[in-house]
Amino acid sequence: MNDNIPLGAINKLTGQYVYPAIANKKDKYTCVDCNKDLILCHGEIRNPYFRHKTDSNHPCNHYNNPSENTIIKDAKILLKTLLDNKIPITLNRKCISCDLEEEYNIPEVSEGTLIKIDFELENNKKVDVSYLEEDSIVCIFEISNTVKNKKTCIIEPWFEINARDIINKANDASLLFLEFDCLRLEKCKNCKKTEDKLKKNKILASKKLIKWFNETKGIFPFRFRNYTGAFIESGERLLKNINNKICFSCDIVLTDKEYITYIIELKYDNNSNYYSKDIIKYCYENHYSLYTIDIDWILKQPNCPTKIVCKRVFDYNYDNIDKLLNRKKKSEMSILNDLDYNVYLAVDYSKKDLIKEIGGKWDDINKLWYIKKNIYKKRKDYINKEIGEEIEWINDI
Ligand SMILES: [Zn+2]
Ligand SMILES: [Zn+2]
Repeated sequence: MNDNIPLGAINKLTGQYVYPAIANKKDKYTCVDCNKDLILCHGEIRNPYFRHKTDSNHPCNHYNNPSENTIIKDAKILLKTLLDNKIPITLNRKCISCDLEEEYNIPEVSEGTLIKIDFELENNKKVDVSYLEEDSIVCIFEISNTVKNKKTCIIEPWFEINARDIINKANDASLLFLEFDCLRLEKCKNCKKTEDKLKKNKILASKKLIKWFNETKGIFPFRFRNYTGAFIESGERLLKNINNKICFSCDIVLTDKEYITYIIELKYDNNSNYYSKDIIKYCYENHYSLYTIDIDWILKQPNCPTKIVCKRVFDYNYDNIDKLLNRKKKSEMSILNDLDYNVYLAVDYSKKDLIKEIGGKWDDINKLWYIKKNIYKKRKDYINKEIGEEIEWINDI
């Protein structure tokens, strides 16, 4: 397939890599791959590009049919060239939590700057393009294509850019400056800050709760609420054991004298209906019920309160564990299909023909089946009974 992607070439005189947008008719260029002479084309509609002279005996497909590897390789040299040539580059990244777009202006190179390709980090990991200043790393770029994506890198700041995005934009004469989308799925500075603050508050609340338990010697008045907020139970509990080390940091496990155990999760917002699958599974396997207490409420109490209100999120002998475990966090992954029009379903492999029959489609990113909402509404009972339950998407906080 002709990719129409304008790859760079080698200037015959200087031996330097040149990309089509800055090439000229006077200089001679050779193929990066086979060293044969090239023709620089200036189309009316297409931006400039290199092509081989027709050679039916030994054709080279570097320009007319490049492999994914070739495209990545070109994008790496191209990005280095752009940086070395002081072309202003801005990276944009959308926060996965609040959608805010953050801008990173890559600093212009100076005398002490080195832009390196395939630079090896201390952990022997190679990074595609690195921006070094007096031997210390300023930032790192990883180049991805349709095959290679979502890498991780330990050094910040690092950016992930699509190879075709770099090549196409660098060669687009209509662009005055270069802006690339960073493909990393990250939260913005503000969201990260808020997250850190919430984490700290959770630790504080956890300590405060344990202190209250110690003050009352474990005899503690509780009121339990269910999902809807209605009180379901109240009374005193004698808490024998307080352990916040079980397997979930900062959360508290209470055991009363009848050996009924509760796990209390501290939540930032008691109305949030997100709780970790690990905790649900743990409660289910060990026959514990799971309750939450609002962190802000704990932090607001000046003294040990006379009553603690807990909300029950999971009752081990009542709730449908499968349904709870099938809930998905919205920020966990990108949802390709508009949830206003589509419904995702938890479909067992053995039911895949049934879901296909009613027009179900497979979302390869989320590894889930989905169907149009109107179809689901019409045949909800049948679908839930025979095919699978609707997946609830919940906001993480
Ligand atoms: Zn060639
Ligand atoms: Zn954000």
